[in-house]
Parts: sequence; C-alpha cells; structure tokens
Amino acid sequence: MTLDFSDRTDFDDAGRGLVDALDPCVVTTPDGRRVWDLTAYAFLDGERPATVHPSLWRQAQLCVRNGLFAVTDGIYQVRGLDISNMTIVEGEHGVIVIDPLVSAETAAAGLALYRRNRGDRPVTAMIYTHSHADHFGGSKGVLPAGAGASRSSRRGASWSTRCRRTRTPGSRWAGAPRTCTARRWSPARPAWWATVWASRRRAARSGWSRRPST
Ligand SMILES: [Zn+2]
Repeated sequence: MTLDFSDRTDFDDAGRGLVDALDPCVVTTPDGRRVWDLTAYAFLDGERPATVHPSLWRQAQLCVRNGLFAVTDGIYQVRGLDISNMTIVEGEHGVIVIDPLVSAETAAAGLALYRRNRGDRPVTAMIYTHSHADHFGGSKGVLPAGAGASRSSRRGASWSTRCRRTRTPGSRWAGAPRTCTARRWSPARPAWWATVWASRRRAARSGWSRRPST
C-alpha cells in the first residue's frame, strides 16, 4: 500500500485543541543549562534527506509540535515539552497530573504553561500510568517543595520517595521492600532478579547460550 502524503489529516489532528505554546520551546535549569530544546529540531522544516524514511520524517514533524492542548472539557495535555506527554485533569479543588514527564524542569514548565492559561490551580494528585522514567521523572517539578512524602500514600508513592523512606532510620517504612505496585518489575525487586537468573539458568541448561565447541 502506498501512503498518500498529500493527505494532511494527521497534521490537523495533531494541532487540534492548541491553546498556547512555548516559543522558543527551550527549557533550562536555574543556572542556564538546557534541559529541553525543540529548536534543535528546526531541520525538520527543511527537505527530507533521501536516507530518511518519509513516514519517519513525517512522524517527527508531528511530534515536534509543542504546547498546551485542550483534549475535551476539563482535560488538557502538555505535548512536545519532553519525550512524553503530561495530562492535566481539572477537578473541583485543583488538578490531577497524569505522567509528569522526565525532568522537573520540563514538568514545571508544562504546568506553568497550563496555569498561564487556566489559572493557578493547585495539584491535588498525581498518577503514573506506568513505571517508565518519562512518566514519573518530573514529579518534583509539579509538586510543591516537600509535598511528595506527605501527600502520597505508601502504595502510590513514587519509587524515589519509597526508597528515601526505606533508608530513613525511624521512618515507619524503614527496612520495607523498596518496591511498590507501580514498579512491579523493578530491578530492585528480588523476584525480578530471580526471574532473570532462572531464565539464564534454563538457557544455559538447554545449551542455547553455549558457544559451539571448536
Ligand atoms: Zn512509557
């Protein structure tokens, strides 16, 4: 099947609901170090080199769009400020942030972009959809300073929060396993390693991993 590259529906879809954008889309640390810089992808406006697959080039053009997007009533998304998207759900008393990006700086910039357009609503909850770093790495940029440990439950606490707690003498979590349901397959979990070693043992027994004898 040949794709119809004159069909621009996907560009319309990717741009739908745009509320506001960062221009230029550059996020830095307080001391000026660049954490995120979409201007580095300006080459995507140019001609596609013959060595790049046309679909890959087009997908990159779609992904490079940044901004705050209205998904539907009360649900917004920050896109293009990191390798993942941050979703913001408006509630009666504040907002729920789903997947706060990779770094605190980009997450904070995304939340600031939201607040610039939707008001200074407090973050009342955070949800990590899964354990990849691009879904929880920026938590500190979204929560008020020091709020991580006090606001999250043991079950739902971030992995880093759990680790910190388990290492703090006197903490009621001191010595507890350094895992939570959100990181079921964390390398920190003994069962994870047990599975890895068991599969390696099986492979070794079956000769699968042995070099052919010479
Ligand atoms: Zn992921």
